[in-house]
Amino acid sequence: MPTTLELGDISVDVVRKDIKNVHLSVYPPTGHVRVSAPRRMSLETIRSFVISKLGWIRQQQTKLREQERETPREYLERESHYVWGKRFLLNVIEENAPPSVEMQHGTVVLRVRPGAGEATRAAVMAGWYRQLLKSALPPLIEAWEPRLSVHVNRFFVQQMKTRWGSCNPSAHTIRLNTELAKKPRECLEYVVVHEMVHLLEPTHNARFVAILDQVMPKWRHCRDTLGHLPTRHERWSY
Ligand SMILES: [Zn+2]
Repeated sequence: MPTTLELGDISVDVVRKDIKNVHLSVYPPTGHVRVSAPRRMSLETIRSFVISKLGWIRQQQTKLREQERETPREYLERESHYVWGKRFLLNVIEENAPPSVEMQHGTVVLRVRPGAGEATRAAVMAGWYRQLLKSALPPLIEAWEPRLSVHVNRFFVQQMKTRWGSCNPSAHTIRLNTELAKKPRECLEYVVVHEMVHLLEPTHNARFVAILDQVMPKWRHCRDTLGHLPTRHERWSY
């Protein structure tokens, strides 16, 4: 009977075998962890071994999740979808009612009419992500306006192929990529602040970086997080 070690949010299956050394594996697609250990090794020894490898385990799991993020979605039952940086399983319900999307018990419930194909499902989901982002933006912009002493006349949310955000310094408007609703919230905040700082300084010069450093010391971390989560196979620059 397999034993399971619970180490915080990671559960590890322990399999005893006639082997001399311990083997640790992280399996796709979910990052499931299994350790094969010699029959005589105590559970405590195995536990300390796994704990010493937690950093490596998390690294492998992150890598697997990133690979998964890059595969195009088909909007099928139990497919993974990301909302604010967290992974949710899709639950597709076909019914004769206007299409809708809602979060329910850790899943994203997509309701479409019977026979609705991939394109329709994708459009319904895209509209929902857009709405999520549109409602997250006003409080963020309002909070940062006084801190940066800038005013944003208007913001736009749209699908963009190559950028997370952009701004028009003369019109005092900013534009955000719908895909940001799939990223951790701190990433959205970074892109908003980045574009708002452009209202003070249009280029990425030393002054621009100095302002960012002052108002958001962790901005490089957010930029790197965004960089590590490519959307499909597109290259992002901003
Ligand atoms: Zn920029």
